[in-house]
Amino acid sequence: MTADTSLDEPAEATREASRADRPTNILIVGVGGQGVIMISKVLALLSQMHGAEVKQSEVHGMAKRGGVVFSHVRYGKKVWSPTIAKGEADVLIALEWAEGLRWLDFLRPGTGVFVSDTRKIVPPFACRNRKFGADRAYAKETPAEIVSRVGNGYVLDATGAAEDLGNTRAANTVLLGALSTTLEFPAEEWENVIDQFVPKGTQEVNREAFRYGRDWVEKARRDPAFGLSDANAYEAPVLLPGEVDVELEINETWCKGCDICVKLCPERCLALSEKHKATLKNPAACTGCRVCEWLCPDFAIRVKRTAAAEAAE
Ligand code: SF4
Ligand code: SF4
Repeated sequence: MTADTSLDEPAEATREASRADRPTNILIVGVGGQGVIMISKVLALLSQMHGAEVKQSEVHGMAKRGGVVFSHVRYGKKVWSPTIAKGEADVLIALEWAEGLRWLDFLRPGTGVFVSDTRKIVPPFACRNRKFGADRAYAKETPAEIVSRVGNGYVLDATGAAEDLGNTRAANTVLLGALSTTLEFPAEEWENVIDQFVPKGTQEVNREAFRYGRDWVEKARRDPAFGLSDANAYEAPVLLPGEVDVELEINETWCKGCDICVKLCPERCLALSEKHKATLKNPAACTGCRVCEWLCPDFAIRVKRTAAAEAAE
């Protein structure tokens, strides 16, 4: 999985940047609402605290509709250009799986570090065939295939980990924890800087998320099979209606009533309420396919399979 063995040692790509006296290049990619910009702000402040010159450039897509967002961060003694050329990213950090794959060409061959969440946010155009079990036009590569192609790869279910910690939106901080093991800044400084950029009242859960990401990398470095077992567990098996016990959590505060989930649910079991919020009108028809969760641009739906359903597999 990786040539690096200690969390105190930065990855080869970033060590090489200091030796060659060139800027360190970090590319952060994802979709709107995932916290791409927060990661780039944390990196910019940390590198400034260490006396580096920093250049940052960003493109924001249609954030509320899951549009593409990416940010280039370059830091070092002298930085001329704000953008990273193909093949020159020392680290590519992806908050969404397919976005990570789309930018892989930018990673420095051999030594570049790929850090990615395995969770998918499938765009609506990839789900045009609404029949149950229909193929989706979404990246087919598995995390194991991608890890074997890059110099260093850490692919983990960061969103699942953040959910387990009690705040889905801390998934970007889980990835920051993983990222922190490849750069030269001390863990305590990362935590203090992250505190400044997360919403009030979420500092503690974000600290836990950061430590989770660091611990995950430590375990994966000791045992590559650990990393890949987590990465490969992200794809839920397809079950027929009635074969699975599913709970749908719809967060009414986050739901903007855009109707995407209602229109694209393969079983047509969702509807908009009088208050223009998504509701599950036909629970018996729901298969737990997670299309609604993947498509919701506001992260307002979580599909939970119950213990009984998991046990039945
Ligand atoms: S839950 Fe459905 S209606 Fe509400 S924002 Fe998400 S996709 Fe739109
Ligand atoms: S998980 Fe969502 S998209 Fe899939 S059947 Fe149930 S409500 Fe519809």
